[in-house]
Amino acid sequence: MDRTLEGLAPLGPLQAEMERYAQEQESLVERAVAVQQIPAPTGQEGARAAWVEAAFRELGLERVERDALLNVYARVPGRRPGPGLLVSAHMDTVFPPGTDLALRREPERDRLSGPGIGDNSVGVAGLVTLAESLVRLPTPPVDVWLVANSNEEGLGDLKGMRAAVDRLHGRAPGLGAAIVLEGMGLGRVVHRGLGVRRYRIAVQAPGGHSWGDFGVASAVHALVALAAEIAHLQVPRKPRTSFNIGRIQGGRSVNTIADHAELELDLRSEAPETLAWLDEQVRRMVERHRSEHRRLHTQVTVHMVQIGHRPAGGIPEDHPLVQAASAVLARLRVRERRDFRISSTDANVPLSRGIPAVCIGLTEGGDAHRLSEWIALGPLVQGMRQLLCLTWWAAHWLGGPGNGG
Ligand SMILES: [Zn+2]
Repeated sequence: MDRTLEGLAPLGPLQAEMERYAQEQESLVERAVAVQQIPAPTGQEGARAAWVEAAFRELGLERVERDALLNVYARVPGRRPGPGLLVSAHMDTVFPPGTDLALRREPERDRLSGPGIGDNSVGVAGLVTLAESLVRLPTPPVDVWLVANSNEEGLGDLKGMRAAVDRLHGRAPGLGAAIVLEGMGLGRVVHRGLGVRRYRIAVQAPGGHSWGDFGVASAVHALVALAAEIAHLQVPRKPRTSFNIGRIQGGRSVNTIADHAELELDLRSEAPETLAWLDEQVRRMVERHRSEHRRLHTQVTVHMVQIGHRPAGGIPEDHPLVQAASAVLARLRVRERRDFRISSTDANVPLSRGIPAVCIGLTEGGDAHRLSEWIALGPLVQGMRQLLCLTWWAAHWLGGPGNGG
């Protein structure tokens, strides 16, 4: 394993940077705090993008730009032409505007907690720290594109990453590989993108006064009847498959028969064919409810629209990029978490387009997407070393003889 790594990429030049991560751990933490304090709900990443752009410019990186979706790009130019390497971290958070972003440091537990600190403020900070190392290192064999992207979470539907891959892969020499950085989950090497489909199901009904119009159809009643059926769906455990009604809302007041109600549904499966089957079950349920309403002349209408589609894709376990990611972890004595090889991340986008990609984590943490979200600070040093080694390796792999270099 070690030979695989060293054979391709001389890791010697990285030594000083690897030392630096241990000595300058606090500056990485400060950077993560600075990012975390800037609100960045999905679709509203402007202020955080401006911070990243300024950081990239300060490092003297090339081609620092921001696109219409607020993705921030920078290039570390390589020695020769050929497909480049993309290293990305998403900027957006699931927390709405106005969320209290107060952080809490717990020195006795070596933790920092606060909304968005792990997902993905520390990831963005890690990307900037990687950039800082790359400008000090010898020129890499191929271009390394650093992208802090928008729209990863929820209804962002990986829009930011789609735009970034369109832009960088859409014209020669394109991209040869991608590394997606997440703040939490150190030890994971995600190389398969979980397929996800998301729907909004909206019900309209006549509605009226709860007493005076009693008997008239209610959108809330119609929707919860459908939702109860969805909640009772039976799905296989293998391939792992899931469904979730994550949001439901509707009605006007307690004494009004609702004229509108809607829910949002998330369907996932490791296997594309199982996802298609699950999708079909839901469609049939919706159709059955529709025809029942028609038959009973309830004047209830049910609309189902797709609000998310994360394409599936993957590379095999024995792919050189996956092997290298494992070898880097082994070399750094970080326990690899093999239960985390398939997930829905920004890596879905390059993977679905045939670009080898992995998603890796920077440190340990928990309570993702909750106000109590936390990260462990100690493992950040190994997390950064992992990121640097893998980036260096991938740039050399792409610049190698078998890859058009
Ligand atoms: Zn994330």
